[in-house]
Amino acid sequence: MEIGVLDIQGDVSEHVSILQSIGVKTRSVRKVSDLEGLSGIVMPGGESTVIGSIMSQRSISKGIIERKLPVMGTCAGLILMSKNVEGKEGLIPLLDISIKRNGFGSQRESFETDLSVKGIGKFRGVFIRAPRIIRVNSGDVLATYDGEPVMVSDGKHLGLSFHPEIYGDVRIHRYFIDRL
Ligand code: GLN
Repeated sequence: MEIGVLDIQGDVSEHVSILQSIGVKTRSVRKVSDLEGLSGIVMPGGESTVIGSIMSQRSISKGIIERKLPVMGTCAGLILMSKNVEGKEGLIPLLDISIKRNGFGSQRESFETDLSVKGIGKFRGVFIRAPRIIRVNSGDVLATYDGEPVMVSDGKHLGLSFHPEIYGDVRIHRYFIDRL
C-alpha cells in the first residue's frame, strides 16, 4: 500500500514521517500523475485558497474525485474536502458537512487542547486558524471541542479541524490507514 501526501503547502514532512514510522510507503503528490496506484491521500493544512487553486490548475482535485481516493484532510485539507464551505461547494466535496473557515478565530486565537477521540483516547489537538464544522449531515463525529465536532469520518474519508501531526503522534494516521 502506498499513501500520497499532497505536497503543496504545510506539514508535508511531518505527515510523511508519521506514515513511514508506522510502516506505510508514502509518495509526495505534486501533479495528477502522482496519484496513480495510491490507496489514499493526506491533505495537510495551509491556506485552502492557495492549495485549492494549485490543485485545480494541476487537475489533482479532479484526479482524486475520479479515482475515488480515500482522503484524510486536516485543517485547510478539511475545508477542501467538505460539501459546504460557507454556502459554496468545496473543491473535493467528499464529506457531507458544513464548514466555516477560520471559525475558531485568527492566528492569535490559535490554541491546543487535549481532545478525547473515539476509539483512540486522549489526543493533543493543535488548532491553527482552524475551520469550524458547523453542521454534520452524515458521518460519525469522532471528537468534539466545547461540544462542537472537530473530527468527522464517513468510514472512508476522515476530516479534522486540527493538526494531528505536530507532536508525531501516529494514532490518527493509523486510524485512517486501518480503514483503507
Ligand atoms: N485558515 C486556513 C484556511 O482557511 C486553514 C488553516 C490551517 O490549515 N491551519 O485555509
